[in-house]
Amino acid sequence: MRLLATIVCFLFLASANAQKAYQPVTNKTIASRYGAMITPESARKQLSVIAGETMEGRETGTRGQERAAAYIISQFKEAGLQPGVEGTWEQHYPLYRDSLETGTLTSGDRTFHFGLDFYAGIQETPDIDISADIVYAGYGIISPEHNDYKGLDVKDKIVIVREGAPATMSREKANPTEKAAVAAFRGARALLVVSKGANRFRALDQHYIRKTDIYRTRDTSSRTGIYYITPATAAFIMGGDSLQAEKGILPQTSARPLHIVFHKKDLTLWPSNVLGYLEGTDKKDEIVFVTAHYDHLGIVDGQIHFGADDDGSGTTAVIEMAKAFGKAAKDGYRPRRSIVFMTVSGEEKGLLGSAYYTANPVYPLANTIVDLNIDMIGRVDPEHEHDTNYVYLIGDNKLSSALRPISENANNTFTGFQLDYKYNDPNDPHQFYYRSDHYNFASHGIPVIFYFNGTHADYHKPTDTVDKINFNLLARRAQLVFYTAWELANKPVRLPVDRNER
Ligand SMILES: [Zn+2]
Repeated sequence: MRLLATIVCFLFLASANAQKAYQPVTNKTIASRYGAMITPESARKQLSVIAGETMEGRETGTRGQERAAAYIISQFKEAGLQPGVEGTWEQHYPLYRDSLETGTLTSGDRTFHFGLDFYAGIQETPDIDISADIVYAGYGIISPEHNDYKGLDVKDKIVIVREGAPATMSREKANPTEKAAVAAFRGARALLVVSKGANRFRALDQHYIRKTDIYRTRDTSSRTGIYYITPATAAFIMGGDSLQAEKGILPQTSARPLHIVFHKKDLTLWPSNVLGYLEGTDKKDEIVFVTAHYDHLGIVDGQIHFGADDDGSGTTAVIEMAKAFGKAAKDGYRPRRSIVFMTVSGEEKGLLGSAYYTANPVYPLANTIVDLNIDMIGRVDPEHEHDTNYVYLIGDNKLSSALRPISENANNTFTGFQLDYKYNDPNDPHQFYYRSDHYNFASHGIPVIFYFNGTHADYHKPTDTVDKINFNLLARRAQLVFYTAWELANKPVRLPVDRNER
């Protein structure tokens, strides 16, 4: 009963709200004077540089990314922004990349090689050089009704286990990481998993599997390396039979110790986020963020991945907005709140630049009122080929009930797009909400809007090039963000955080 009453009341309020249109403070004539500075021609000029050959696809940690950063800084300066990071323009952050120098397992006079006879995740496997006895521990599982370690002393030894779990057991027990944790807890130095799939690693590109992707932090926790070996390798190491090994039948111990050498070389890279600051007036301590990622995939298999749409288009929009707000400020229309224009790197590696920023913020997150994030706004997806006047908005209603009315009002007043909320559905299988930099702001409780055109055939391909961009659309979508930011930066009351949706 109570529940229904609540719903009725809620519906009533909702419809009452819907009838009361949002009352903006934005002076239409003044705002549009500056919004009109964002044109298809100026956007084309920017993007031709950002997604040009010189930038080599802007992969994080490469000279292409550094060139792009230098270019963005030059544009922020021209826009009249201040350096956004305590007197400098860049927030550098460390990323580490491992590559494997030596990976061998030696038993007696026979040496097995990484990529041929065994495989190990480079990032997760520590640099080691050990020689130790080996003990076979069945599945390597301990549970209330099952104990593969019963009567076994594995301290300082190498444990070898079979893949999977008994049929009666839950799937998680088969997880090699859990098996490694069990082995480590009992003092083992390494874990070998007999895996039929280890054969398949022969087919992988050796160059590719010897290098990790760039990752964020150096992991100093001591780990037990997991080495996946073929049944034939297991049989040789333990002195058993290959067919039996495939069925999980191996001698308990081996007469010979096993020598594992896993040497890695690691490289520290210092990519950056680029921040430009436009100081506000009476509410300058409250900050509006406008973001896009300037990195892309770089050169893959000798081909430049230009990333014109992803996310040269968003980077262009941020620069164009900076210029429009900068000119307005110069003419005496400085926003009440401050605006930070931030282009981040590391997005394609896993939202790393924005994760670093939100973990090490230059401006207190508590005073950061919103993040308007632009990632891919220069193209049209297959669903909108016949009606291109659209943009997807994602996340806009999740943390603040006031953000969508502001955004829709800006659109109704200035740009007139079909705002498509399809991907805002938490059940959408694409999960785009989690797939760009705004998410790192949202996860810190900061309201966001993610502007997006959807994917297309050139997504993450070398063919995502400048000639395929619809600059009219790009400029108008950037204007929508501009007018939304204008209102958010100038409205008397700070955007509330009054919801908590996923
Ligand atoms: Zn991408």
